[in-house]
Amino acid sequence: MADDNGTDTGGGYCAPGTAPAGDGPATADGPPFAECVLCREPTEYPESYKGITLCPVCAWQEAQRTACSG
Ligand SMILES: [Zn+2]
Repeated sequence: MADDNGTDTGGGYCAPGTAPAGDGPATADGPPFAECVLCREPTEYPESYKGITLCPVCAWQEAQRTACSG
């Protein structure tokens, strides 16, 4: 019962790359993400993002705060 012939069908599977549609600021396609400057949660910005990175929660809170100051 020695039937271990490696049926290697080749690993030439080429996944189609989904190009980003380019909406909004530059967001990362995957980790590593930059961490939130307030709560250190991972944001949707790439780690190489220059500037203040806020997670969705803190960004929302900042938006609320800004909206109230009027
Ligand atoms: Zn945060």
